[in-house]
Amino acid sequence: METQILPINDNSIKFAAELLKKGEIAAIPTETVYGLAGNGLSAESVKKIFAAKNRPADNPLILHISDTDWLYRYTKSVPHPALKLAERFWPGPLTMIMPKNGLVPDETSGGLNTVAFRMPDNKYTLKLIELCGFPLAAPSANLSGLPSPTEARHVYNDLNGKIPLILDGGSCSFGLESTVIAFTEKGVKILRPGGVTPEMLSEYCYVEIDKAVTEGIGEERKALSPGMKYKHYSPKAEVYMIECVDNDQFVEFINKNYDKNTFVLTNIREEIRAKTIPYGSTSERDAAELFSVLRKADELGAEKIYVKAPAKKGIGLAVYNRLIRAAAFKVIKL
Ligand code: AMP
Ligand code: MG
Repeated sequence: METQILPINDNSIKFAAELLKKGEIAAIPTETVYGLAGNGLSAESVKKIFAAKNRPADNPLILHISDTDWLYRYTKSVPHPALKLAERFWPGPLTMIMPKNGLVPDETSGGLNTVAFRMPDNKYTLKLIELCGFPLAAPSANLSGLPSPTEARHVYNDLNGKIPLILDGGSCSFGLESTVIAFTEKGVKILRPGGVTPEMLSEYCYVEIDKAVTEGIGEERKALSPGMKYKHYSPKAEVYMIECVDNDQFVEFINKNYDKNTFVLTNIREEIRAKTIPYGSTSERDAAELFSVLRKADELGAEKIYVKAPAKKGIGLAVYNRLIRAAAFKVIKL
């Protein structure tokens, strides 16, 4: 099939809504990453999403809604303090897991009896959801395992010929997937870190961070969030995350261990003998640029990528979580 790319506007969202109502799928921009959207209440549409991405069927999808009231349509109950968090952080990069009701097919929830909800912060995408009248299931619009798409051309590179439409809304402003939380007796547990940080959530409730956020998921541990058990976000090149005390140590390691196909993601200019790609400034910019920088390294023919580990606080926690997975947990401690 031919893949059409249209700038997102009032006309193209009408066209997209017609496609989606017919059960088709389409890539849409959000503030986190591009999503591959379909009717989240239709098992047939959802199956098309899994097939196009080659996503494992037990990795559940997030339902994107345009109105907080929709939570009551598709859940058995809305846990405390979901409404307070929705009021503060929606539209925005916070995904909340709740007990689902019978309207949400098992295909959407990966066979779980819970389902995840988010309200994306993109005015056209919100209008599109309203036009559809149903929640859009939308995982990242990449091939499963590759870095998530933050530009329409990333989606095109991965899914050209497999989906009918990409709505182009420019570069995603935040650039990493949403924070995913589950509700506990005491408050919330972060299953995947994102733009809504533990520090921000703890102003509203008790916050735990699941161990798998910074560590791997052991075979013996049942995955709370099935998406976390897969190798993820990885470019073709092998990524190594370097934990070190200072820049001198980092530079010394690189200069001893590089070859002609090694790329270093760094803003330290002087002394590095390997090829570099500019990366590593504020945590906001690191989040926004991470996936496109990993894709760029592949385009330049990198075989090995070295990158310094970010500090695990604020948005840095989300960057760390994506990087350690892109590195398939290969961490070098100096
Ligand atoms: P993606 O759509 O690719 O951003 O991935 C969605 C993330 O949310 C994955 O890590 C899923 O495992 C997680 N997720 C979605 N629904 C649930 C659920 N019902 N329970 C636990 N995790 C979920
Ligand atoms: Mg994804």
